[in-house]
Amino acid sequence: MSDNRLLVITSDNSTFLEIQKIAEDHAFHVLCAVTLEEIQNYFTTFKPSLIILDLHFAELDGISLLNYLTHIECKSQLIMIGVEDEKLLLAIQHISKVKGLKLQKILKSPLQAHELSEALKSIEQIKSSAIDAHQIVHALEENYFVIQYQPLIDLQTMGVCGFEALIRLKLPNGNIILPLDFISTSEETGLIVPITAWLIKSTFEQYHIFQKKGPNIKLSINLSSICLNDPVFPDEVLKTANIYKVDPKNICFEITESGISHQSELILEVLTRLRVMGFELSIDDFGTGYSSIVELQRLPFTQLKIDRRFVSDIIENPAALIIVRAIIDLGHNLGLQLVAEGVENQQTLTILQQLKCDIVQGFLIAKPIFLENLEEWFNIFTNQQLIWKGHE
Ligand code: C2E
Ligand code: CA
Ligand code: CA
Repeated sequence: MSDNRLLVITSDNSTFLEIQKIAEDHAFHVLCAVTLEEIQNYFTTFKPSLIILDLHFAELDGISLLNYLTHIECKSQLIMIGVEDEKLLLAIQHISKVKGLKLQKILKSPLQAHELSEALKSIEQIKSSAIDAHQIVHALEENYFVIQYQPLIDLQTMGVCGFEALIRLKLPNGNIILPLDFISTSEETGLIVPITAWLIKSTFEQYHIFQKKGPNIKLSINLSSICLNDPVFPDEVLKTANIYKVDPKNICFEITESGISHQSELILEVLTRLRVMGFELSIDDFGTGYSSIVELQRLPFTQLKIDRRFVSDIIENPAALIIVRAIIDLGHNLGLQLVAEGVENQQTLTILQQLKCDIVQGFLIAKPIFLENLEEWFNIFTNQQLIWKGHE
């Protein structure tokens, strides 16, 4: 059976025929489900690799369908169609992210043939570049993982206050694979646990290099919520910190907002223990999940990172500016340090300064840097305060 199996869930036959024509041009084998019973049947018999979901499906609305797909642990790629409203679009993105669904695209009504064609093309690319579990195990065994560090700048002093460690997979042919192509498989298979252990050990090993640049420079490390389901995780981290003489106050663990939205008591306990040990804790991608203010107050976080989708939009979109301003005020009132990520131009940086944001990160300052290029970047940044374009 081919890997290009598309199930279109719509009650509108003309929409189906339009999609079928375009998808067949992209070599998809296409079926249509018009009832819930057909959806259930096709899941077991047809096993779609891609689903196109009409928000206005007659038997069940699009949001209930997303719930249903979560319930059956759907791993197919998803495209949602029939969305008219911008706010609804954002809400659907959030729901899918929190539920762990692979929503790749939302196409607005009326459906445009060229947009669908582009979406199908990009899904083909995602499939061809994704790394499977076997390759991840191999990469761990062969030591193919590498780290890039992206600087964080203090907006008051305009000095470097930290670096975020970002993992990459470097193939023997020199190609660099970004996390988008292996993190979700690593999480689904649990391989994220040994990957994170490797990353923590390697970052702690390199800590002294950053310390020489400034005793207050912090290193930020991304943690998947899967790692937080292990009660001995904090002890292991502290043990590694002791081996490499790392001061916990200079390490900040970032956990995505969606990762902590429905946190168990165990996750809360693990986070609290990390905090008690002195590690800093940051809520990553803030604005994309569902944390309530009550939840925010309950969790032992010290920092809040505003998702780059809002930050990159503040010049063009008044709603994004309002959201960013509100997040900064809310965070400050809760005693949190505020970081804006995805700062790509001077105008955005100036607005963030006016909004009293504490720290910025983004391509304006630097793209993620390999350790061997760190010295060069520091020299340029500190001596000339030039905007460094990084090594592509
Ligand atoms: P993130 O934690 O939100 O990391 C920031 C991502 O934004 C990075 O992508 C970085 O390269 C990118 N970025 C930074 N500044 C800009 C900017 O100005 N413009 C734009 N367009 N992008 C910018 P990257 O390295 O591809 O990482 C993607 C995601 O993968 C990360 O998002 C994080 O969620 C995850 N990730 C990376 N390393 C690890 C890791 O070691 N463990 C885990 N669990 N996840 C990781
Ligand atoms: Ca992060
Ligand atoms: Ca982020």
